[in-house]
Amino acid sequence: MRSIVITCAITGAETTRQDHPELPISPQEIADAAFESYLAGASILHLHVRDSEGQPTQNLAVFKEAIAQIRAKCDIIIEVTTGGAVGMDLDERLQPLILEPEMASLDCGTCNFGDEYIINTLPMIKEAAIQMERYKIHPTLECFDLSHIDTAKILIKESYLKPPFHFGFVLNVPGGINYDAETLGIFERRIPENSYWTAIGIGKANLNAIYGAIAYGGFIRVGFEDNIYYTKGVLAKNNAQLVERAARIIAAAGCRVATVQDVRKMFQLNG
Ligand code: ZN
Repeated sequence: MRSIVITCAITGAETTRQDHPELPISPQEIADAAFESYLAGASILHLHVRDSEGQPTQNLAVFKEAIAQIRAKCDIIIEVTTGGAVGMDLDERLQPLILEPEMASLDCGTCNFGDEYIINTLPMIKEAAIQMERYKIHPTLECFDLSHIDTAKILIKESYLKPPFHFGFVLNVPGGINYDAETLGIFERRIPENSYWTAIGIGKANLNAIYGAIAYGGFIRVGFEDNIYYTKGVLAKNNAQLVERAARIIAAAGCRVATVQDVRKMFQLNG
């Protein structure tokens, strides 16, 4: 039976308490939300943290505290962000890699991001890959555009990245490429054979991207970083509610939800 991995991105860098009153911000809230998402079926936690004011931070101490609190509750696989937030420099973004999480996101190109933009030049992407290799961290190759897949292929060719590859297709960022099923199919056909991938549909594309991922052979990401709504105009109760729905859709499609053990085996993680 096919196993489908659910990643939960519970906080992100952009979503605010004004957007959703239940957004997990403190390390304790993040750990509680991670645990609930884990119980609902998420095997990977995509982790951003916030400072005491609720602003995005790549501060090592805050990451350390959040990870310790998550670890006290469950063994969900932790994927730290190295995208950080708009305006951060690369050194700042890469800080949490020192903590040797099992996974990290690796942005594979420059793109528009709402009214702003995120910069990832080829040397920056290579430096991030080198640091991940150094700490034995498995990257999720985040592609916000088709050209980012081609950039990842350059790194693969030059041996900066080793299989098994895991891509994340980030679709529907305002200013970026929109989601539709056909576009997802084009992304899927462009990556190297035997790669894994996760559909990351932003905003109203999130639910459609779940169905698209199931149809095209990919994995799923949900959570308040990507989408705060359960249905149009109705906020999701919490992150776990979005994971629960993804798990139900997976079961209805005749597939099973991947466990943390499944993912560690697939991606050859150290645990
Ligand atoms: Zn993120």
